[in-house]
Amino acid sequence: MKKLIIEARVNEYAMRDGNANVPWLPQEIAADAAECRQAGASIIHFHGRAADGQPDHDFESYRDTILQVRAGSDIMVHPTLGYVTLDEPAAQRLDNVTRLAADPATKPEFAPMDMGSVNVDWYDPERTEFTTKNLIYQNATDTLEYFARNIRAQGISQYLVCWNISFTRQMIAFMDMGLIPEPAFCLFLLSDDIMLAGHPGTPEGLDAHTRFLPPHRHVEWSVCNYNGDLLRLSESIITSGGHISIGLGDYAYENLGAPSNADLVHQVAEQARSLGREVADVAETRALLGMD
Ligand code: ZN
Repeated sequence: MKKLIIEARVNEYAMRDGNANVPWLPQEIAADAAECRQAGASIIHFHGRAADGQPDHDFESYRDTILQVRAGSDIMVHPTLGYVTLDEPAAQRLDNVTRLAADPATKPEFAPMDMGSVNVDWYDPERTEFTTKNLIYQNATDTLEYFARNIRAQGISQYLVCWNISFTRQMIAFMDMGLIPEPAFCLFLLSDDIMLAGHPGTPEGLDAHTRFLPPHRHVEWSVCNYNGDLLRLSESIITSGGHISIGLGDYAYENLGAPSNADLVHQVAEQARSLGREVADVAETRALLGMD
């Protein structure tokens, strides 16, 4: 079977109450990236964070993080565009990536496109009530067309995020329109319990994603579980040809003590090898994804 791509989703907007190992500052992210690369990850996804954990979307934060990550390893870089914390017109949302791409030293390998819009409020299943009620993650079709054209024009690979099947339908339409080249690289975003926006992190939730993929399209797919334990599904993902996107950004993994991101990557790599699937290094990941 083709080799397994492991992406480390190191921080998102996770605080440190569940696990103190979440990296925030550029030097922390860079140190984490080097350890994750050593453990088998070929891609790091990160969000800029300030010293108090708040989002930091300043260009300098992303520039410094990428420079420090690259000083420590050859891991490929996948920064966020800002998710719900950067609710601006398309050009502004892509501005950091455009500026980073102007210098080969900071040009990211990937930029994300979430292929639709969705309510991303937080739900408390014990109290059966929402704790936020107005969070909408908006990605209008003209915004996505702008992202698709401009990310490609800058020689960056599109990283396609599908929260549900309607996102995947839009991704396939963009492939039909010639806006997304094959192979496409897509993340199926599962979300457990306190966020209802993705499919649940269950075998059924994942099956609904993978069974919808049309056989005539070449899509390399990875899976994350936002607010849930991805290791419950990792064996079936590995044996069915998917890839793994895991990290403390999504889930604190308190059931494992206080693992680091590299510990999680190591556990996935070991599991893959025990199941007869080797882990892709950076060159092999580039080849699998059709990158130059
Ligand atoms: Zn993210």
